[in-house]
Parts: sequence; structure tokens; C-alpha cells
Amino acid sequence: MFNIKGFIKTSLVDWDGKITSVVFLPHCNFRCPFCHNKDIVLNPNEFENISIEGIDSFLLENRDFIDGVVITGGEPTLHENLPDLCRHFKKLGLLVKLDTNGSNPEMLRYLIKQKLVDYVAMDIKAPISDAKKYHISAGLDNLDIEKIKKSIDILKNTNIESEFRTTIVPGLHTVEDVIEISKSIGKESRFILQNFSPKNTLDDKFTGIKPYQREELEKMAMAAKKYVDNVKVRG
Ligand code: SF4
Repeated sequence: MFNIKGFIKTSLVDWDGKITSVVFLPHCNFRCPFCHNKDIVLNPNEFENISIEGIDSFLLENRDFIDGVVITGGEPTLHENLPDLCRHFKKLGLLVKLDTNGSNPEMLRYLIKQKLVDYVAMDIKAPISDAKKYHISAGLDNLDIEKIKKSIDILKNTNIESEFRTTIVPGLHTVEDVIEISKSIGKESRFILQNFSPKNTLDDKFTGIKPYQREELEKMAMAAKKYVDNVKVRG
């Protein structure tokens, strides 16, 4: 049985250039203070399980215009049967995109090797050279940064499409951080700077923080372009 807690029938914003459905899996091993999916992270049992049969019937009825399924969370790679879920959607003839925080390189490697994912979006929470800042941004006292590095390496060295993305939060991230992250992901990668949304944040203190202006993020993107060819601001 698949543990699915949320389903968006149609999205134009979760995979550039694709029309997708989005499924949300519960639980996360991070506690990013700026997370805006806090209910699915902290209180997933408050949501009813959504039946895969209902999702399938929507996907099959709308097969003509849905390109693929985005699997997000929470952190999907915590679920041991994630490969089965990906396989399930692939069998329906759909593309699969995975959103991950990069903490499970073994699962990531397996999914790619078995051709169960077509696109991966990996969050990078802070410069991997700054363990203290990574811990603060992920909301953890301890975190195995080596696993994050491994996931970055896997995505840098695979043929499937991928992107790295960082939610840029005033007070947590500076232009210097963006430059450091850019250096670690490599010139050929795709790097998305996501604007922070101060709504329903996991740590209430973050709800009052004013996001960066678009122009400030564009300036950060310009600085990152010295190290990564494809940098975009989103949100
Ligand atoms: S933002 Fe952080 S806490 Fe929220 S789902 Fe993503 S990794 Fe988990």
C-alpha cells in the first residue's frame, strides 16, 4: 500500500515545460525552519490516505494531457516502497519527477539505475562547506553532510535531467552562500534560486520574515552564473 497524503490533479509549475500531477508522501528527516509543508512533515497522520486507485483513474482518464507525476513530500526517499510507486506510474506510461533533500543517496542511485525517475530536483539547503549553516538551514543538530555530497555527485554524473535548488531566506542565506553552492554543483548543472514564502512556516518565527526582492535574487543569480551556466530565479 502506498502512503499518499496529498494529490494535486494538474500543475504547470512543478516541472518546467510539463503538465503534471503531484503526489505528496508524508514525513521528513529534516526540519527546515522555513518549510511551508509543515503539516505533512510534523502531523502527517492528520491527513487521510489517498487511494492509488482514485489517482490512477484520474491519470488514465487524462492521459492525453498529463505528461508525468511529481513525487514530493515531505521527503519521498524515506519510503522504502518509493521504487514501487515510481514503477507504478511508469507502467501507466507517465514520466516521473522526484523532489528530494538529497539525504538518501543509496535510494537516489537505485532509482536512477533502475530507470524509475526521469528528472530529479534536489534541495541544497546551504553551502556544503559550511556544516554549521547546513544544520541550521535543515533544522537539525546533526546531519551527515557526506550523504548530501554523494547525492550531488550522483546527479552531476548521471544522464537523466536534474536541477539543484536552494530556497533563499533572508537572515540565513547571503550572496556569498549562493556563490559557494554554485561552486559545489558544477558548471553544467541547473541551479534554481527559489524565493522564500513566509506562509505557514515550520518555525513560526520565519512567518514574519520579509522575502528578498526579486531584483536581489536576480543579482544573486548573476553572481552564481560565473560558476554555473544555467541559473534561474523562481517565485
Ligand atoms: S523543506 Fe525541509 S523540512 Fe520541509 S519537506 Fe523539504 S526537506 Fe523536509
